[in-house]
Amino acid sequence: MSDKHQPVERLAEAVIGGDRRALARAITLIESLRADDRERATELLAALLPETGGASRIGITGAPGVGKSTFIEAFGLIAIDQGRRVAVLAVDPSSRRGGGALLGDKTRMEALARSEAFIRPSPAGDTLGGVARRTAEALLVCEAAGFDVIIVETVGVGQSETAVADMVDVFLLLLAPGGGDQLQGLKKGIVELADILVVNKCDGELTAAADRLRAEYSGALGLLRPLDVRWKPPVLAASALENTGIDDVWRSIEAHRAALGPGSGIAERRSRQAKAQMWAEIGDGLSAAFEADRAVAGLLATLEDEVARGMTTPHAAASRLLVAFRGDKP
Ligand code: GDP
Repeated sequence: MSDKHQPVERLAEAVIGGDRRALARAITLIESLRADDRERATELLAALLPETGGASRIGITGAPGVGKSTFIEAFGLIAIDQGRRVAVLAVDPSSRRGGGALLGDKTRMEALARSEAFIRPSPAGDTLGGVARRTAEALLVCEAAGFDVIIVETVGVGQSETAVADMVDVFLLLLAPGGGDQLQGLKKGIVELADILVVNKCDGELTAAADRLRAEYSGALGLLRPLDVRWKPPVLAASALENTGIDDVWRSIEAHRAALGPGSGIAERRSRQAKAQMWAEIGDGLSAAFEADRAVAGLLATLEDEVARGMTTPHAAASRLLVAFRGDKP
């Protein structure tokens, strides 16, 4: 029997049993854009859902070159040494099959890849929403497969960091001295999303610059209102290359979990994220149905043009379009 026709229940059992090939197949199914695959993926996720929730979900972002892959390797190897099972997923909406990915380089994280870690590059896709949803689902599959540390990596460009922050328990922003882009992370919104900031490359001749960067960010953070009153984001120093300060990052992640309230804080964050994901999908689905609606299509171009020329208010046009949309429904 081909993989294609393997019953979903069998695939789910194999994933839960820790079968690596089944895990890879399950994620491939989830990444597929074909309608029949989507149906099977939905069934698969329903079967796996009771087994999910057990991992520490960690998001990591940072500009290209700050040392994300070097850091994730050092960070992941520490967890593996402690007997934990580590998976690394990526969110990169720029990735396309056949290249162009900012994170997809196969030479990255070699030592981690040689270890027991499961590393999955970003699914290819055109929309961030689609890539993010498939990554959030892959995360659930990894949990069902028994991974207890799941790292979701994204490059700090565009909106992908928000999507990742919305699917993890703790969100790390990696910074590094040099490159003349000292305020890279202060790009609007990213610093606000971070639960923990890590200044990487705090080694050798970069040490003084790293210290300055750390002071700069500590100062900037002092002016921000924290996302959560229970946790003030720290700015840590590390060297992924020399493997220093990485333990402190692990300790800080544990402190963050404890600060949010043992068990309940993270559960609350996950509930909020799950509800937000549901509403985002409803929004996407409704927009797609709206755009495909015939009654809407008959009016859309004219009304859009009238709104653009100031002949109709946006409110009046939207109301007419919504009435036309609803008019079709039973
Ligand atoms: P990414 O693009 O963010 O994934 O960055 P990489 O992990 O590929 O690292 C970019 C460059 O920075 C590489 O040449 C690394 O060797 C170097 N690098 C990474 N971490 C450190 C560090 O802690 N100290 C120093 N000095 N260099 C580092």
